[in-house]
Amino acid sequence: MRYCPNCSQTLIPREEGGRERLACPDSGCGFIDFGNFSIGCAGVVIRDGKALIVQRGWEPFRGSWQIPGGYVEHDEAILEAVEREVMEEAGVVAKARDVIGFRHSIGGSIGGPSTNLYVVFRLDYIEGEPKWDDDEIMGAGFYSEDEMAQMEGVQGLSRWAIDKALRSGPQHGLEVERGATSMPARPGWSLFGLMPNDPDLL
Ligand SMILES: [Zn+2]
Repeated sequence: MRYCPNCSQTLIPREEGGRERLACPDSGCGFIDFGNFSIGCAGVVIRDGKALIVQRGWEPFRGSWQIPGGYVEHDEAILEAVEREVMEEAGVVAKARDVIGFRHSIGGSIGGPSTNLYVVFRLDYIEGEPKWDDDEIMGAGFYSEDEMAQMEGVQGLSRWAIDKALRSGPQHGLEVERGATSMPARPGWSLFGLMPNDPDLL
């Protein structure tokens, strides 16, 4: 990045937060290039002991199988994003319950280093039979772990997430906070935390 995306001035190096970064010379603008970040989400939906997976129709990794997911839009709540991706990719209505885990990755690309946070949710199946668009997705279905072990190209990270979901109780993950007295809801916030062992103590 050479020019300010806000006001098009040429960026100049500046010490900021303990290291040199490119920043806009206009103090009224205030833009600083902190690097490239993206947020992904994915969902494990279990029905009758089987997990929902979809087959990629696009490169990279065309033909491989993974749990449904995608990027979180910059103005989209992450719970809405994961429920949307499950619906768009597999035609299944599901409601996010808790966070199974997340992966933070530092990658490289032509545009410079980039980092991605990929948050995996457990979702409760609501309704719908798997269907797909035969374009971005070329297959979808509920499969047992035994069945997936016989399939080619099931993504390791997806199998990791499915394994976690099948081997933990529904109250073990980080759940969305729905109004604790210590932290009232704020517009634009999605707050996740561990729930108390005894819900009666809430
Ligand atoms: Zn600027």
